[in-house]
Amino acid sequence: MLINDQPDLFTLRFDAKPAMPEDVVFCFSGDQVLLRTQEAPFRLPTWEELSAWFAADMLIHVFTQGERRYFLLQSPNAASPASTLVFEQVRVFRSLASHTEAFLLMTAFHMHQWYLQHRFCGTCGGLPRPSQTERALVCEQCGAIRYPNIAPAVIVAITDGDRLLLAQNAHGAFRHFSLIAGYVEIGETLEQAVRREIMEEVGLRVKEIRYFASQPWGLSQSIMVGFHAKLDGAPEITLQHSELAQADWFTADNLPQHAGEVSIAYSLIQRFKEGRLTSEA
Ligand SMILES: [Zn+2]
Repeated sequence: MLINDQPDLFTLRFDAKPAMPEDVVFCFSGDQVLLRTQEAPFRLPTWEELSAWFAADMLIHVFTQGERRYFLLQSPNAASPASTLVFEQVRVFRSLASHTEAFLLMTAFHMHQWYLQHRFCGTCGGLPRPSQTERALVCEQCGAIRYPNIAPAVIVAITDGDRLLLAQNAHGAFRHFSLIAGYVEIGETLEQAVRREIMEEVGLRVKEIRYFASQPWGLSQSIMVGFHAKLDGAPEITLQHSELAQADWFTADNLPQHAGEVSIAYSLIQRFKEGRLTSEA
């Protein structure tokens, strides 16, 4: 199920009140997140469980979802402070049963990366501090205000009659078959990005590019914008070997193991599998 099919689920509010003992804390170190060891598979610690080891001024409020408030702990030290706590890879999100938790984790990781990348003001080199009124950083020297960066990216299900194009990345940890995707470049519309990415990665032309849905993807500080497009012309693939290990056309009854449930790629592939992608276009 796509997160934007549930309009109230993922409304993240800002609230600058100090952390209370019951508030939940994300503590990242590199690409790892601190979890409670007792509860499987995923339980974030509360401030009460961490406050013996960390100072309250290390906390930044990231969002409030429903009644629950979440903070980010800016910790320079990667060591786990207690045997009840353990650092796990952030990619644990792919195995979480709760899609809400997966998206909260990715969004907090997005913010963590953004704070790390903005430890100094890009205008004057001064020290930015978290705003008390909105989710932003304010430079204490020159007053420049910076908001979290979100990189738009497109992801596209290309069909040729009853066949779907799936590709496998040449690099990175995620090596399942998935859809063609890439960042939008400056000066480009989303549709142009779709055409360019497809031409670059598999050497194909497409037509009838239609919007499907969007999904925040904090792991890469992105918003993924999903499309369906139909092949226009010859189906022979010219692979961009620097990006892709392989790519091929698959029918619905012959799909390889592909992207996990939590992603928009899964929703698009699922829609194709059910025969609802091509029939609607
Ligand atoms: Zn400044």
